[in-house]
Amino acid sequence: MFNLILFGPPGAGKGTQAIKIAEKNNWVHVSTGDILRMEVKQETTLGLKVKAVMEAGHLVSDELLIEIMESVFRKHSSAGGFVLDGFPRTLNQAKALDKMLETLRQKVSLVLSLDVNETELVNRLLKRAQEQGRKDDTEDVVRNRLVQYHQHTRPLIDYYKGQKLFKEAFGEGSVDDIFLTLCNVIEGKE
Ligand code: ADP
Repeated sequence: MFNLILFGPPGAGKGTQAIKIAEKNNWVHVSTGDILRMEVKQETTLGLKVKAVMEAGHLVSDELLIEIMESVFRKHSSAGGFVLDGFPRTLNQAKALDKMLETLRQKVSLVLSLDVNETELVNRLLKRAQEQGRKDDTEDVVRNRLVQYHQHTRPLIDYYKGQKLFKEAFGEGSVDDIFLTLCNVIEGKE
């Protein structure tokens, strides 16, 4: 089983690339952002709980995220691989993921980070705000999400570097070129 973590700041293009990688390899794409947005849209108990937090650009609690991921792994117990997009986002989540995988006799295979400069990130997120009307894509909230990334998520780089699992790829350019680069890294050619 190949367990890929697609890593990077909001706006780096994780979602777009995760879908393509999952499709190519027949792996399960897990976007915690998509899962949470669906819960909000369907006004489930969980959705009602996380709506305000998400709209402010803050992180949803580790506890909830870990619960969600446990149920994802249970549901796809015979998958050939996973592309995790948006999880883990904190050190607690990363440690919980290691434990979850351990119980399945699995490990994180690779953490692949999309490298995009901050000005480009903000531009992309604001453009998405206009196009898709995501409530968490307004300027203040976008800045907040970047702050959350720097405070809570970026430290994971050292965690995974320590395990020699971390690799980086340039995330600017055409979607297809970036995809090709990512595929090469996954296949160990770069
Ligand atoms: P982004 O474009 O910022 O990467 P996502 O679509 O992945 O956004 O996530 C949107 C929002 O969902 C986040 O800002 C956060 O509130 C919540 N969220 C998603 N994944 C997590 C996570 N692993 N831990 C905490 N909150 C999360």
